[in-house]
Amino acid sequence: MADRPADNGKRDIILKVKDLKMHFPLRQGMLQRRVGTIKAVDGVSFELGEQEVMGLVGESGCGKTTVGRTLLRLYDPTGGEVLFHRSDGSWVDVAKISRKEMKDLRKEMRMIFQDPFSSLNPRLTVRDIIAEPLVIHGEATGSATTERVAELMQAVGLKPAYMGRYPHEFSGGQRQRIGVARTLALNPRLIVADEPVSALDVSVQAQVLNLLQTLKDELRLTFIFISHDLSVVEHICDKIAVMYVGKLVELAPTDELLRNPKHPYTEALVSAVPPADPLIKMERIILEGDVPSPANPPSGCIFHPRCRYAKEICQEEVPPLVNIAPNHVARCHFADELELQGVADVANEA
Ligand code: SF4
Repeated sequence: MADRPADNGKRDIILKVKDLKMHFPLRQGMLQRRVGTIKAVDGVSFELGEQEVMGLVGESGCGKTTVGRTLLRLYDPTGGEVLFHRSDGSWVDVAKISRKEMKDLRKEMRMIFQDPFSSLNPRLTVRDIIAEPLVIHGEATGSATTERVAELMQAVGLKPAYMGRYPHEFSGGQRQRIGVARTLALNPRLIVADEPVSALDVSVQAQVLNLLQTLKDELRLTFIFISHDLSVVEHICDKIAVMYVGKLVELAPTDELLRNPKHPYTEALVSAVPPADPLIKMERIILEGDVPSPANPPSGCIFHPRCRYAKEICQEEVPPLVNIAPNHVARCHFADELELQGVADVANEA
């Protein structure tokens, strides 16, 4: 059995991501000449403990979905390590293993996709959709497959009697449950959920989030939960990583990040989270402009063109990721000095 490093003595580490990079060539013209590089993910590092849920948040185009896809080798990373602790006790670098080894590893690492409709084959019955991973990996045949599909449908709150129906006969929330059942078919240990509720009605979002929370507890799952909306992940995540233009700009336990943000970008995201008490008035920080292109990121601090605290040094020098407190890091020259607004500050002022 391999050594299992501990996360502050509380959880065994299941995933260690070190300096992960995913760069894509930028091509133009008739001949598709390479004219630059899109640094979609540029040096992302974090660790994840068993049964821990980490939120990966940021605006559209910040690289969070690319991180999720690269972790599961849907893209071949440009650089870095993705060390995964397998169920047999060995460590494997997902970034470097062969496609054949990766196929085997996909039993333990699975993904839930954003759009429950387009991720389900409309020509297959629900039984065949959920059974697909079992068939591909040779994990069940005949009546055992049908029994396993029934078990999975029950686990996600669907009636097994409906397994002969097609995806279009279900609502959006039910379709996402079908997607979750398919993801669970091979008993994975790590699930990357890419915006799993953003395509659903608000009324259904809470049901699916509750389902994921219940499954996480019952099946002892570890999750990376990708979302553009901090308010979606705040209740389900143990810790949150904030991404901006391919880099992590802050990572902290959820409560700490919400109450005591140390990066101005996180402060803006936190200000958009509706307060629990509707009588509390909070300043909504509206960021000017769009997320810059990762093909041509700004000099110095990548956030400086939109930062209301920017000073001269911010245009010239890249800020390092610094430790603020145990398990709390932020990438800002003034992380120790700025007094940023968190949810607790707002509650105190009310
Ligand atoms: Fe803002 Fe400067 Fe901090 Fe970047 S380094 S977040 S520009 S204050």
